[in-house]
Amino acid sequence: MSFDVNAFMRQIPPMSELLSLPWVPSMEASLGRRAVKAVFSEVIGEFRTLFREGRISQISAEEIVREALARLTARSVPSVRRVVNGTGVVVHTNLGRSPLPREVMESVVDVSVGYSNLEFSLDEGVRGHRNDHVEWLICQLTGADGAVVVNNNAAAVLLSLAALASHGEVIVSRGELVEIGGSFRIPDILSFAGARLVEVGTTNRTHLSDYERALGEDTAMLLKVHPSNFRIEGFHCSVSRQELASLAASRGLIFLEDLGSGLLEAFDGDALSEEPTVRECLQQGVDLVTFSGDKLLGGPQIGVVAGRSQLTERLKKHPLMRAFRVDKMTLTAFEGILRMMLRGEDRMIPTREMISLSPDVMKRRASSLARRVRRVIREASVPGNASVLEVEDAVGGGAFPAVGLVGYGVALDLPSLGGASRVQGLFRRSDPPVVLGVDRGLPCIHVRTLLDGDDERFLRSLKRVLGVR
Ligand SMILES: *Cc1c(COP(=O)(O)O)cnc(C)c1O
Repeated sequence: MSFDVNAFMRQIPPMSELLSLPWVPSMEASLGRRAVKAVFSEVIGEFRTLFREGRISQISAEEIVREALARLTARSVPSVRRVVNGTGVVVHTNLGRSPLPREVMESVVDVSVGYSNLEFSLDEGVRGHRNDHVEWLICQLTGADGAVVVNNNAAAVLLSLAALASHGEVIVSRGELVEIGGSFRIPDILSFAGARLVEVGTTNRTHLSDYERALGEDTAMLLKVHPSNFRIEGFHCSVSRQELASLAASRGLIFLEDLGSGLLEAFDGDALSEEPTVRECLQQGVDLVTFSGDKLLGGPQIGVVAGRSQLTERLKKHPLMRAFRVDKMTLTAFEGILRMMLRGEDRMIPTREMISLSPDVMKRRASSLARRVRRVIREASVPGNASVLEVEDAVGGGAFPAVGLVGYGVALDLPSLGGASRVQGLFRRSDPPVVLGVDRGLPCIHVRTLLDGDDERFLRSLKRVLGVR
């Protein structure tokens, strides 16, 4: 049968008819007429292709309308939404990493809806620098004498390499040539910055003599990368910071460490005690440390380079600085977080608080949530149960790779809804969306990562999933 365009076109309602459907005005109100038309055209185009390929022999106007309505409905609600993190992974990159304290966000709103002194010195009435709002605070918290902030830690590493090592050689241990996820790979970043990578040692063992042998005329820098998201166990060794620092100093080289997680103050207890603080790294002789603002620091997405001011001043003058500069909302939020750290209010920063929650507190919260879940299940008159489970949580964000945190969760046993992955899907698509973990085969909500009000959000979502009014 040949492709009969005319016969096909006759089955498609004209655009004017589609645009006079009763629900169109409300879609136009939220998306505009042009976008509504574009979606109709897109759907018609797709049906035309299916017809041309012989995969359908006819179409109904009804199908076109139904499909367009579904797409427009999905497009007319905000895309970035608040979700409940029930995974127990505190710094969850896919879920926006660190939730910010409300008091910090109030100053962000205030600064953003009005003008600000972002790059203006109120004392002198002349141009100022946005970096100046946070540099002193970072120095107080880390012992650095200079600091610059950029968009994220990836930018911090790239800027440091481009400004201080382009055209030169950078020596890195083979055990630290890592990929951090989302395509941040140390060798790629180095070559993009115009530096030549010199690999030393082996995956599991690198000695000081390996670094010494690799030194040459063109060596510009020693780079240490925190193996944030994995850990080598067994027969392995690496060179200490102090040894690398004295090697770098004796040859006039720069010693840069990509620390990733950005711990400013150690946590209580020994479980997390292996993670070095930024201050310790600098004390052990690292010239510059780079780290993220939204991992262990619990702030907004930002990258920091902290260390010797002689070097940070060179970073400030590099052209990439302009491309990587931090926006006013981020900078304001970051200043707020740094001030909380200075005041010793780190337990009021949600990320830090969630990491240090005690098992007792979580167990009590899980018990009370389980009771409320069982009540909803009874209300829905479906078979099922909810029980408290001891679970393994994680810091996430590439921090503390080997540390499983003991946590508690509420496992949902709802056989009428299907298997765990189906239940996870129902909760993701519910309102508000909830991201659940799976423990011992059951969908499970970990209480560690529940923020204020999240128990109620989860219960609302559960009611929708179970069809309770
Ligand atoms: C997380 C991480 C990065 C990337 O940091 P972003 O802030 O996400 O750009 C780079 N290096 C290490 C070691 C990390 O842990």
